[in-house]
Amino acid sequence: MVLADLGRKLNAAFSSLNRASIVDEKVLDTLLKDVCAALLETDVNVKLVASLRVKVKAKVKASLESGADKGKDVNRKSIVQKAIFDELVQLVDPGVEPYKPKKGQPNVMMAVGLQGNGKTTTCTKLAVYYQRRGFKSCIVCADTFRAGAFDQTRQSATKAKVAYFGSYTETDPVAIAAQGVAKFKKERFEVIIVDTSGRHKQESELFQEMIQIGEAVKPNMTVMILDASIGQAAEAQAEAFKESANFGAIIVTKMDGHAKGGGAISAVAATKTPIIFLGVGEHLHDLEKFSPQPFISKLLGLGDVQGLMEHMQDIATQNPDKQKEIAKKLEEGKLSIRDWREQIQNVMNMGPISKIASMIPGLPQEMLQGSDEEGSMRMKRMIFITDSMTAYELDSDGSPFMESGKDGKPIGLTSRVTRVARGSGTSVREVEELLCQYRMMANMAKQAGGKNGWLQAAQKMQ
Ligand code: GDP
Repeated sequence: MVLADLGRKLNAAFSSLNRASIVDEKVLDTLLKDVCAALLETDVNVKLVASLRVKVKAKVKASLESGADKGKDVNRKSIVQKAIFDELVQLVDPGVEPYKPKKGQPNVMMAVGLQGNGKTTTCTKLAVYYQRRGFKSCIVCADTFRAGAFDQTRQSATKAKVAYFGSYTETDPVAIAAQGVAKFKKERFEVIIVDTSGRHKQESELFQEMIQIGEAVKPNMTVMILDASIGQAAEAQAEAFKESANFGAIIVTKMDGHAKGGGAISAVAATKTPIIFLGVGEHLHDLEKFSPQPFISKLLGLGDVQGLMEHMQDIATQNPDKQKEIAKKLEEGKLSIRDWREQIQNVMNMGPISKIASMIPGLPQEMLQGSDEEGSMRMKRMIFITDSMTAYELDSDGSPFMESGKDGKPIGLTSRVTRVARGSGTSVREVEELLCQYRMMANMAKQAGGKNGWLQAAQKMQ
């Protein structure tokens, strides 16, 4: 999980708020102290942290004065949680919408950034990302400065089964970029990614070259690729690039290995440029879509229903027959256990468990910790459990497992639970847990029908 350490600390702070029997100024101060310390440790700018503290206090004070808590501590807790949640979102939200590629037309994206920041790797990841979502994607290698750049593109594009263009002999990057883009446009490619060379910040030639390539290929979006390890220095680097390449979006790479990632993200937000993706590893699929609200939600262990739904819809795009059915079920909040199992299986096929599991609300926190092998073993056990269910049970909303009293209210579990536990080689407790997680998921998906409903549902679950 991205920024696991920060997430754990924020989680711990929120848990101590939940344990507090009364919520007074002292409790709020302690909570804010813990939250701010966690943010500073991830290299978020001191001024931004101080302003978050002031804004949260002001918001909580205003809410309490208006009587929104109705004198109850539970309400006070959610007011505090909501105020912190909103301010954390503000911290990473530049308030600008990025360009969205459109189907059926060429969308040219030009990648710029310093050498070693992960530009070439990210270009391939981007092409794969869009290809999986049904866009005909390709890469143009216009990096003639670095020896071996074209070979790197050729190797990774071949591995990813993405079309590419480049030259071993042409030394003019502008000519290569123009030729490649023209060729792919003619061949009706929809996402054309132009990889430029990255040298050093001070080299004015590099900026000149970026401008010339930009003029030649007229990108719909220029993306800056930025390494998370520089933390809050990201602001200065982004500004320096912005002066020459008027980029519309940023991708922050190497978020997997750097404690300073939070600093980089908040610093970028300060430049009013949207972050569109985070690079979270060296593999082709290690690219996470970034949106402020789901990012904070995931960080706080609240899941990311929005992201999960996008995943589900992307999968459905690859199987158009299923698309309508899933969309309808999501809308009506009628996801069966079978649908849920299918989603778990799909996400297992989409990349390492730890990266995707955090999107699924209702999955236990332990699943998000530990190694990928441990996480995928836990998920496999969930699949074993559902494998032991009958078709009737799988297509249900879990009610066959619940015994109801005369008034129709659930009073306990049926013997079906024991049968499934025996059949799957698991325990009754594990089956119970799975049913409970499924119900939370179904409930959240239902809530997600309304805007922001998922957030409230997630907060209620805490
Ligand atoms: P470029 O010079 O900007 O084109 O950078 P490269 O794409 O060649 O990447 C430089 C190094 O960073 C390579 O070893 C990549 O595998 C690595 N890298 C790129 N993105 C990520 C990421 O998100 N996480 C990690 N851990 N490594 C990355």
